[in-house]
Amino acid sequence: MHKRFCAATALTLFLSFSLSTVAQRLPTTVAPTHYTLALTPDLKAATFSGVESIDINLKEPANSITLNAIEITFQSVTIDSHGAEQTGTVSLDPGRQQATFTFPNTIAEGRATIKTRYTGILNDQLRGFYLSKTAKRSYAVTQFEPTDARRAFPSFDEPAMKATFDISLEIDAGDTAISNSGMVSDKPGPDAGKHTLVFGTTPKMSTYLVAFLVGDFECQTGEQDGVALGVCATPDKVVLAPFALDVAKFALHYYDTYFGIHFPLKKLDLIGIPDFAAGAMENFGAITFREDVLLIDPKTTAVASQTLAAVDIVHEIAHQWFGDLVTLAWWDNVWLNEGFATWMENKAVAAMHSEWEIPQMAAGEEDNTLNIDAQPTTRAIRAKADTPDEINQAFDEIAYGKAGDVLLMVENYLGEETFRKGVHAYLAAHEFSNATAEDFWKAQTATSHKPVDKIMESMVAQPGVPILAFGVPADGKVSVTQQRFYLSPAIKPDANQKWTLPVCFKNSATVSSSDATSGALSNVPPRPGWFGAAITGGSASPVQRASSGSLSCDLLTPGANTLRIPASSLFFANVDGKGYYRSAYLPEQYAELVAHVESGLTPVERISLAGDEWAQVRANKANVGDYLNLVAALRSDPSAQVLTEVSGGIGTIAYEVASTEEERDALGAWIRHNFEPAYTKLGSPAAGDTHNTLQLRAGLFLLLGYIGNDDAIVANARKIADQYLADPHAVDATLGAAALGIAAEMAMPRCSTSCRQSTKHRPIPHGGRKHCNCS
Ligand SMILES: [Zn+2]
Repeated sequence: MHKRFCAATALTLFLSFSLSTVAQRLPTTVAPTHYTLALTPDLKAATFSGVESIDINLKEPANSITLNAIEITFQSVTIDSHGAEQTGTVSLDPGRQQATFTFPNTIAEGRATIKTRYTGILNDQLRGFYLSKTAKRSYAVTQFEPTDARRAFPSFDEPAMKATFDISLEIDAGDTAISNSGMVSDKPGPDAGKHTLVFGTTPKMSTYLVAFLVGDFECQTGEQDGVALGVCATPDKVVLAPFALDVAKFALHYYDTYFGIHFPLKKLDLIGIPDFAAGAMENFGAITFREDVLLIDPKTTAVASQTLAAVDIVHEIAHQWFGDLVTLAWWDNVWLNEGFATWMENKAVAAMHSEWEIPQMAAGEEDNTLNIDAQPTTRAIRAKADTPDEINQAFDEIAYGKAGDVLLMVENYLGEETFRKGVHAYLAAHEFSNATAEDFWKAQTATSHKPVDKIMESMVAQPGVPILAFGVPADGKVSVTQQRFYLSPAIKPDANQKWTLPVCFKNSATVSSSDATSGALSNVPPRPGWFGAAITGGSASPVQRASSGSLSCDLLTPGANTLRIPASSLFFANVDGKGYYRSAYLPEQYAELVAHVESGLTPVERISLAGDEWAQVRANKANVGDYLNLVAALRSDPSAQVLTEVSGGIGTIAYEVASTEEERDALGAWIRHNFEPAYTKLGSPAAGDTHNTLQLRAGLFLLLGYIGNDDAIVANARKIADQYLADPHAVDATLGAAALGIAAEMAMPRCSTSCRQSTKHRPIPHGGRKHCNCS
């Protein structure tokens, strides 16, 4: 599933029965091998009927068989075993979401086939087999992850109980259906006004990945690496399919090559669903999406939204390997699916669109994850998840973001090719089967001969973020202490909690040529009194320009208090920002980094440094003045994502730290003074503008409009917003979206100071804007 619509998880939680808090694993004495499923949905009556047979293997003789079923009414249950058929009785346990079939005679060990006839409900709760509605009509669609296949067909609904599936659907004439495999036949009947679609046998897969969708879907099709691709939607929306089709083609080929394992099905459909709670769902061969995630017009869509759409699409396609081909053995390792897809989504989109600055975007997201993980309420990546409620709660930022960040750190430490070989070994060893966390890090440890098991165990089993405090670097080493970092200054960390992790330093290869950008701080006007400490000096020694080069990493272990460091003119302890930790520098090292931030650090490293400093301001371990010195040094930064990163901190200073109008006015003047030159230099949108330039202009526009209260910007925002509303093609969509935000803000009654200071008000978009709602 995709994370950006975590409301889906909340919704599922809300809908979950309170009864479902009972632990409810199935016995392991019965294993399914194949399902034959014939379904007849009645969209008008919002019901469906099913005829199902399940081939099973009994490890020992039994008189009863227990599987998952909820909101299912059984008409009949029989079992064939060793040539004898008998009829069973059904007892339901709604609390455990289980049904038990009991038979008069003992069923022998070995193969048997259960046959059931049943009816169910096409519900309106966006899970199981449900009705999705537009103004014109209804669609019958599915969403099974994690525990809702049992609402559509009686099943051994656990991820490790993989089986093959033969699915057929009897549907209204004029409608079509899509399922995991391609259609193999389409025949009229058997009932009048109906036709029956039969789909090919699926590979061995988990129940939560089964999908069937019924309605008047239309598709645009293509082909990549011998796989038939389709992007499908309601008839009015299918015109918007080309963007997704292009992304899917790229991703499929990229993954075929990267994993060294060909996409395991003959076809892959991506389907936009009118009502869909999750952002997207990686059903094997039939990925479902919310329409607005899949179907976009790049001409009228802001670049940030295009990026997110592409990221969502490649995330789900990555799941076809991580999740569908190789599946978590149980839901305590949700990160094995979601962390991998999150790590891979950035890699694939960065390969497709290097100009989209994906590593910078990922660095901003990592900063956000580090802050979530610095709350006392965080959890370890691997966590107990037994009931449907607990399983749903496991789909959080820790399983997605933190796990993805940890994989990025390990990949950076091992090197991309070594890591890729480990990924291939892991997937090849467990294809069409299941895996645990240990399976993954054993494969990586064996491939790399480095202690990946120790690093991953340390990161996966422990909650929280380490902060590494460095001493003065000298003689090829630096002293370091590690402890858990909390954003709340009131929380005392447990002195015994330590991590094993790689720490990578700038070296003379990554900081090479002399190119001082002195004077970055000389332009800073006096700050309002509440800004805190004096501006640190701009005592610039000759600075070095960042360039690519070999990594210099050392492994921090729980007992270590020094690390080996390479020769370098600039001390920076998180190369490429890929380490999952916060760094704390001595004042003189921090001042050096600020003085040389534009020339000595890469954009991703600037985001990492700004994130670390702002987090320490929040934790009362650094002051606002030191942070604003860094912001001033970044005022001409060419990267839109760097500006986005510091805009988050500035917005909080304006609305949560500043306590008077005078302080906010002073901050506004300071913003205008520092950032107007960069905005002016960019000029108006032009045909050749890069994705980054479009976003940088919009970001400066927002900053100057919201916090700078720049009269000219605000007036211009109203004009651009009017043009954009009248004709989305008339202005650049990225600037248009920013202008709409400013115009809406200015149209609202001015918020009171207390409201502007409240957490309800977030004027700078940082993953979504919330209005002041106190007026
Ligand atoms: Zn996912």
